Amino acid sequence: MALLRIEDLNIDYMTLRGRLRAVKNASLTLGEGEWLSIVGESGSGKSTLAMAIPGLLLPPGRIASGRIIFQGRDLTGMSRDELRRIRGSEIGVVFQDPLTSLDPLRTIGDQMVEAIMEHRAADSKREALEMASAALESVGIPGNRVKYYPHQLSGGQRQRVMIAMAVMLKPRLLIADEPTTALDVIVQASIMRLLKSLQRKMGMSIILITHDIALAAEVSDRIAVMYAAEIVEEGPAEQVIEEPLHPYTEALIKSTPDLWREKTLYSIPGNPPDLRNPPSGCRFHPRCHKAFEPCKSREPRPTRIRGRTVACHLYG
Ligand code: SF4
Repeated sequence: MALLRIEDLNIDYMTLRGRLRAVKNASLTLGEGEWLSIVGESGSGKSTLAMAIPGLLLPPGRIASGRIIFQGRDLTGMSRDELRRIRGSEIGVVFQDPLTSLDPLRTIGDQMVEAIMEHRAADSKREALEMASAALESVGIPGNRVKYYPHQLSGGQRQRVMIAMAVMLKPRLLIADEPTTALDVIVQASIMRLLKSLQRKMGMSIILITHDIALAAEVSDRIAVMYAAEIVEEGPAEQVIEEPLHPYTEALIKSTPDLWREKTLYSIPGNPPDLRNPPSGCRFHPRCHKAFEPCKSREPRPTRIRGRTVACHLYG
């Protein structure tokens, strides 16, 4: 059985200028122990999709329709309290900037103990502190740093603390939303290695949200590519990278810097569309060099081809 199944999910934001569909007809499946990366430009809907899973969509965002089935239960029908119980214990979340998630006035240990006690995962504060200290050790930070305040740690260490907090109750799924964007390349690599080793050790599944398809290629089992609120291609990472089917995936790969490639870096012409008024037909058609007759007028439907799902008229 799949750990997570997203079925035909639609998410709207109500804005002063009208309704904006931020995620349109998204369907995905994630297996136990699998790593899925959701890739796309800013505003493509990837973070909105990921945050909807553990019930972290903020108003004016709302799920308009569809289902999110996690371990056989539909999360879209759950109350805030039920979702709060699932977050942290069954689904862990790591955000881009640890400074905005950690309270600067309280020690790391205090914050970890509070989360452990809230989920009733320890019988006493002393036991919770021991768990917090062990969780820090598991991400490569000495356990006695529970006494530290967030400002006493480097950016990379703070992100490790966030990861420790997210996995300390052994969730089945970890969602990491651009966890390394604020970090330098060396620290980024060490955080990715840490996530990979935790995934293997704990057997948990990971959803990584990233704009960096090269990073996704290195760590993922599967990759889903989003453009203008839609999943345009999804499949095994190696296939998506080696032989992209959708012209947008192909363009994303071509626009990735490569030290060994002498050619000038490709840039996708034009800009992502305004989601309040997206282009007719295929949303990528104004920027697509392969666009042909039906692309302007007809929306492409997701099609299964060569073990992948792709939404493009080139594939029937
Ligand atoms: Fe390009 Fe047409 Fe495919 Fe859209 S449907 S990606 S415009 S070829």
